[in-house]
Amino acid sequence: MSTIKITFPDGGIREYESGITAKQIAESISPRLAQEVLSATINGNPTDLNIPIVEDATLKLNKWEDADGKHAFWHTSSHLLAEALQELYPGIKFGIGPAIENGFYYDVDSPKPITEADLPIIEKKMEELARSKEPMCRTEVSKADAIKEFSAKGDEYKLELIDGLDDGTITFYRNGSFTDLCRGPHLVDTSAIKAIKLLSVAGAYWRGDEKRKMLTRIYGISFPKKSMLDEYLAMLEEAKKRDHRKLGKELELFMFSNRVGQGLPMWLPKGAALRERLEGFLRKIQKKYGYEQVITPHIGMKDLYVTSGHFAKYGADSFRPITTPYEGEEFLLKPMNCPHHCEIYRHKPRSYRDLPIRFAEFGAVYRYEQSGELHGLTRVRGFTQDDAHLFVRPDQLLEEFENVIDIVLYIFKTLKFNDFTAQVSLRDPNNKEKYIGSDENWDKAESAIIKAAADKGLQTIVEYGEAAFYGPKLDFMVKDAIGRKWQLGTIQVDYNLPERFDLTYTGADDQPHRPIMIHRAPFGSMERFVAVLLEHTGGKFPLWLTPVQAVVLPISEKFNDYAQKVADLLNNSEIRTEIDVRNEKIGRKIRDNELKRIPFLLIVGEKEQEENIVSVRIQGEGDKGAMPIADFGAYVKELVEKEIE
Ligand SMILES: [Zn+2]
Ligand SMILES: [Zn+2]
Repeated sequence: MSTIKITFPDGGIREYESGITAKQIAESISPRLAQEVLSATINGNPTDLNIPIVEDATLKLNKWEDADGKHAFWHTSSHLLAEALQELYPGIKFGIGPAIENGFYYDVDSPKPITEADLPIIEKKMEELARSKEPMCRTEVSKADAIKEFSAKGDEYKLELIDGLDDGTITFYRNGSFTDLCRGPHLVDTSAIKAIKLLSVAGAYWRGDEKRKMLTRIYGISFPKKSMLDEYLAMLEEAKKRDHRKLGKELELFMFSNRVGQGLPMWLPKGAALRERLEGFLRKIQKKYGYEQVITPHIGMKDLYVTSGHFAKYGADSFRPITTPYEGEEFLLKPMNCPHHCEIYRHKPRSYRDLPIRFAEFGAVYRYEQSGELHGLTRVRGFTQDDAHLFVRPDQLLEEFENVIDIVLYIFKTLKFNDFTAQVSLRDPNNKEKYIGSDENWDKAESAIIKAAADKGLQTIVEYGEAAFYGPKLDFMVKDAIGRKWQLGTIQVDYNLPERFDLTYTGADDQPHRPIMIHRAPFGSMERFVAVLLEHTGGKFPLWLTPVQAVVLPISEKFNDYAQKVADLLNNSEIRTEIDVRNEKIGRKIRDNELKRIPFLLIVGEKEQEENIVSVRIQGEGDKGAMPIADFGAYVKELVEKEIE
């Protein structure tokens, strides 16, 4: 028997007999690993664990922690769902059943309607089938045989899918009585699926085409342990309470209007003020790091984006151009600020002594998204980036990168995102010709990013082949208070735009040189950031940021004037204060304002008015006692200063 060499992700190489499977390799390493491993990635392709390996290969064994491992787990669960449905609903037909980011679904055409009330019975059936440890049997079939199989079943959906496939590429997977057209990969058998929850039922057009039949989509999720499912369901409950769309309404921060247009958020007074505070906060730190604010228009000539390359890449999926009535000019809604900033760089000669130049703009951009993809503030058609472009010399790259990281870290600290990781995206070392810019510059930029991340003590994941064609980048992922991950800030090196816009500076040698561009947006966009912040804090913003810091509650109408006086005094010393003069019992007023997440409630009555004091109640803590108005003001100011130091 011949031997083959298997290369592991850590670079280690081991020899095995040809024909060994990934599962057997896992067993040879440790029984525990063999138990935990869910799928394999062989030469970069996710595959089943029980496929014989007959050539030298790279091998990654995917566990639950790996996206590919989870994917195989959930994909197998969707087959299990289909098998359960086939047993419970004879004559049911199947569309597609993929794994998704969180769980899986199957689209079905059922002779009998399926509603959410039916889900527990289906779940039970799935659990029963999972326990019987059904193997996922893979077979390669000819197109003719595939057509025969599904014609016999009368499943026109699968037949349509087979129609689009080439002969020789078709595989079936069978678990128990259910055979599916599928590419895989899956688990070896169903026994690892220990906890299942079917979450919802929705309508979905076959192939996403509204002219075709509406199928029933059943969503579910599954886990290798019951406790993991319990945790997930608790998280979902909490996420519902924190949904930024719900909180945004309750706290009167933003709104949408169909008359204005889908995906175009409008900021209400409290939301606008909050956004201004966030912008002011960022402006202040950026000024400290030498950024200069610029302002550019919301549209630009189509040619601008042809020059930048954005039109070639995104033009077909953008808003259509706007034309002028007489001159025949064509404009596009601005999808990115960079081309405008390149033009600003170009407006006068630059010398090596002028660099780095840092242009910042809270720039509104517009990008077309399909209406079905829109979601609150996280998927919109118009948004404002906290954008900046840095034009630097190659020898300045490291220092500038470190400064940008400092800004991001300061933001995370101030806004209490304490759990985050950074992903460094580098070139694919085997495909260097795919990328624009010299080898030497890339090496310099990549080592600068890695060094900057290390110098700043970031927890990083390095991904080869994930860089854009025009430069390497660093992305920040934050984990929110209930464990969900969000991608926030990004820092991106760019060799492409300086080339396309022919940007130069005069060097010490009196010769023209190309600057390197860095794009960076620590928040990403104001809209998305506020959404993440709402869901992270559950609407309990830090004191410096929160729309209303204090509400004065007179215990009866008699004290409305005094309440007004207190509010005026505090507002004059820049403590955002409102009064609640509704004709309600004081208990009710306290409850209502606590629900609005107001940090301080100031209760005033006879005694308070006589002594010129307020009785302070702190959100989540209760009574703090009485104090003079000025003392309360000083106390809040001190807390705010501590938050943003
Ligand atoms: Zn499958
Ligand atoms: Zn940019």
